[in-house]
Amino acid sequence: MRSVQISRYSRGIPLLLALLGLLLIASQLLGRLDFWLYDSLTRANPFHQPDQNLIVVAIDEKSLSELGRWPWPRAYHAQLLDKLGGAHAVGFDIAIAEPSRDHPEADKHLANAIRRNGKVVGPVFPELQGGQLLETRPLPAMAAAMAALGHTDYERDEDGTIRRVYLRAGLGAPRYPSFAAAVRAVALGQRETIPPPQRPRPGQAWQRRDLAMVPFSSGPKPFHTVSYGDALARLPPSFFEDSIVLIGVTANGLGNQQPTPVSANNTGMPGVEIDAYMVHGLLTHQQIRPMPLLWESLLGALLLGLGDWLLSRRLRPRRLLTGYALASGATLLASASLLYFASLWAGGSVVAMLLLLSGTLRYVSGQAQLFSLAFTDSLTRLYNRRHFDEAFAHAFEQYRQRHKPLALIILDIDHFKKYNDHYGHYAGDEVLQKVARALRDGFRQKGQLVARLGGEEFGVLLTPSDAPQAFAAAERFLGQLAAMELPHSASPLGQVSCSIGVCACIPGPTDSTRSLFEQADQALYEAKRGGRNRVSLYHLPRDAGAKKNADDASALLD
Ligand code: GH3
Ligand code: MG
Ligand code: MG
Repeated sequence: MRSVQISRYSRGIPLLLALLGLLLIASQLLGRLDFWLYDSLTRANPFHQPDQNLIVVAIDEKSLSELGRWPWPRAYHAQLLDKLGGAHAVGFDIAIAEPSRDHPEADKHLANAIRRNGKVVGPVFPELQGGQLLETRPLPAMAAAMAALGHTDYERDEDGTIRRVYLRAGLGAPRYPSFAAAVRAVALGQRETIPPPQRPRPGQAWQRRDLAMVPFSSGPKPFHTVSYGDALARLPPSFFEDSIVLIGVTANGLGNQQPTPVSANNTGMPGVEIDAYMVHGLLTHQQIRPMPLLWESLLGALLLGLGDWLLSRRLRPRRLLTGYALASGATLLASASLLYFASLWAGGSVVAMLLLLSGTLRYVSGQAQLFSLAFTDSLTRLYNRRHFDEAFAHAFEQYRQRHKPLALIILDIDHFKKYNDHYGHYAGDEVLQKVARALRDGFRQKGQLVARLGGEEFGVLLTPSDAPQAFAAAERFLGQLAAMELPHSASPLGQVSCSIGVCACIPGPTDSTRSLFEQADQALYEAKRGGRNRVSLYHLPRDAGAKKNADDASALLD
């Protein structure tokens, strides 16, 4: 049987699914699913190419123990910058926003070293002070000596993890490139003039544009790390020749550790390392762009609608689950391919999940429908003979034990062959459906079960019911059918009628469902013989009644 027939009632599902997908993706309600997917793909990325021309000079525990407590004298930084003259660019990710109180000349000294180096990039970031948003930059003398300024404002996702950064941001206008983009530009000799500091004005917002993913990867880091102490005292200037150097804090005690997809659960990644991943991505063209949310939502909705429509039409019921699971896997694979080969992040977890869900629901409902088809008559939608027999046998056994009466009604349409011959087979089918509907309406109370036994013959089981009750119910139905006035010009009665045989009993030890069927059949035969369109109740012949009582009694004694 083809799935089309089974999912006759589910034609609107692809559209519904597309709308649901659109809503879920656009609202980012299940954003965490995509975070999970992105993080897993990032960690599993087999195509990441580390570039060893990038050096992180780490202000780590080791250098703190060598050079003393933070903050260090500015002369250290000046000395280091002088050593880094051969580097292509130096990202100096240390905020020096306050003038040195004890040694004002040290600020000038450091500014001169920055100027001498000529390739130093400094950090800018937003800060909230007294309800006012400010941009914090290096001291003016130092900023003026720098080759570029870049913002270090990474985006924190809803789950607290850093995955994205805007390539431009700034107070009032996105005036600064991101720190990594500024380092890259200096390294490639593409400098832009540093904008003057922005005077804070009430209500000014931190503006951002050009969202990019930070190209994290697991495995070997795409940079060398050297301790600040080593860089200052032990490594020769030639070590840093032609490389890009990022200087920043990595020591745990100084804070600035951020959770990222590739950092361990309880420890974060220092900001300078996040910068290093970003610089590396920008330099090796591995930076990843997220697909705009609108496009992602529309694409997701299209995939869901089209995918579900095609799969539900093409797949055989038995293959539904596998087919949908494969489609769901293919979605994830496509998302991974876009990420790895086109550096595009398009999400996909919501589409994969909804496809799997739809497949499962379709499969389960298909199975349920198949199951119900097994005991339903396809023409009249009544129970079929198989179900009637099972229900009858079950009720019979129960009523035998409880000593309660049940009744069986068998009903046969009169002159139905003539009806077919006169009106055609399809018209005959319609009459069967009408009679079935009337039966369903007439016997809808608890304990009443209607079935099509075959051809134009129907059965009704009444539990509990004694003979007078069953007889009355059958007569009532005959009246209802007559009131329907279904024309049957080939019948002497002029309209569709039926004959009904009724029998009832408290099942005894010698009774069986078969004997009851035979009795009801006999009563039906009587009704036909008596002129049709009537109800006949089965009566035990007098001597047969006495014999049955004796048989029942001896069966009980046995
Ligand atoms: P009677 O009054 O003695 O019951 O006569 P009858 O013609 O109803 O009985 P008979 O057993 O001679 O014919 C039953 C007819 O029912 C023959 C058969 O073509 C028709 N029939 C059985 N099943 C179907 C069905 O599913 N659709 C249609 N249209 N006719 C059916
Ligand atoms: Mg018949
Ligand atoms: Mg008949």
